[in-house]
Amino acid sequence: LGPTVTVGEILVEIMATTVGSGFLEPQSLIGPYPSGAPAIFIDQVAWMGGSAGIIASVGSDDFGMLNIERLRRDGVDVSAISIIDDKPTGSAFVRYRPDGVRDFVFNIAHSAAGDIRMTETARTLVERAGHVHIMGSAFAIPGVAEVLDYAIKTVKRRGGSVSFDPNIRKELLDAERGRTLLDEIIAVTDLLLPSGEELLAAAGETDEAAAVTKLLDAGVNEIVLKRGRDGSSFFGRDGKRADCPAFIVDEVDPTGAGDCFGATYLTCRRMGMEPERALLLANASGARNVTRQGPMEGVSSLANLEAFITATTTENA
Ligand code: ATP
Repeated sequence: LGPTVTVGEILVEIMATTVGSGFLEPQSLIGPYPSGAPAIFIDQVAWMGGSAGIIASVGSDDFGMLNIERLRRDGVDVSAISIIDDKPTGSAFVRYRPDGVRDFVFNIAHSAAGDIRMTETARTLVERAGHVHIMGSAFAIPGVAEVLDYAIKTVKRRGGSVSFDPNIRKELLDAERGRTLLDEIIAVTDLLLPSGEELLAAAGETDEAAAVTKLLDAGVNEIVLKRGRDGSSFFGRDGKRADCPAFIVDEVDPTGAGDCFGATYLTCRRMGMEPERALLLANASGARNVTRQGPMEGVSSLANLEAFITATTTENA
């Protein structure tokens, strides 16, 4: 029907090389790496062979060019990425605590990443799109709501579909605005890709089963729940459910796993695969991503994933 399109922040990520309690003392950092949840997601769609495009903004600096060149090279339509002359490209600094929790320092609102508008090139891309993927992380960007509204209406009118990953970072949004947007988006979502906490928050429930039932009743067609090292689950209509255990890998950097997972699942489904097969490939995609340092460095092709699944199964047999 047309490309998968997403909207949101393109960033560089710079990460602490040591595990600690915060950014309160000088430390060694590594980066810049191409990043931003929507950028990682759309890059993985392209790696899977899916037609892919992104509406976003970068500055006219090296950080912006690094991202545009990576996305272009990987096959993403970059025509709707605006280059803003008087603002720097957005950035995120990340630091891991000993318990695995990540703290981010974001520079989005006052950077080019926070300057997303409905440009002519964005409109042209949306009018060709068959699917729009929405990222909660982008809700903090003022112009995003208008672009999403137009994209959802246009894509739905053409018979296309909507997926939603409610990855709202606590650093990015106050609770009330998040809640309102969450409800509006859930009402138009075909495929929901939450983690455990996000599932409960999206439904306003405290129990997984109750949350799943409520969201399916609200009109969501498929819920694919990301459980980190515990794998993932698919919930469909008529009580259909599938669970897939995680692959056993050495985790080097968890950032981007959820984006690679979601992009792989969606692209497999758009290619016509059954949910069970899509879930297995998505798990492999998340697992491969965490073995590489840098959020977008662990993207995978279908051939990479098939080889990984074969190798991992053989190893465990
Ligand atoms: P993020 O916000 O960091 O992108 P997320 O919370 O959205 O992540 P996760 O559940 O962490 O998503 O990861 C998505 C999928 O990737 C998991 O369902 C799992 O299949 C795979 N995965 C993630 N971490 C690991 C791991 N350490 N080992 C194996 N597989 C993993």
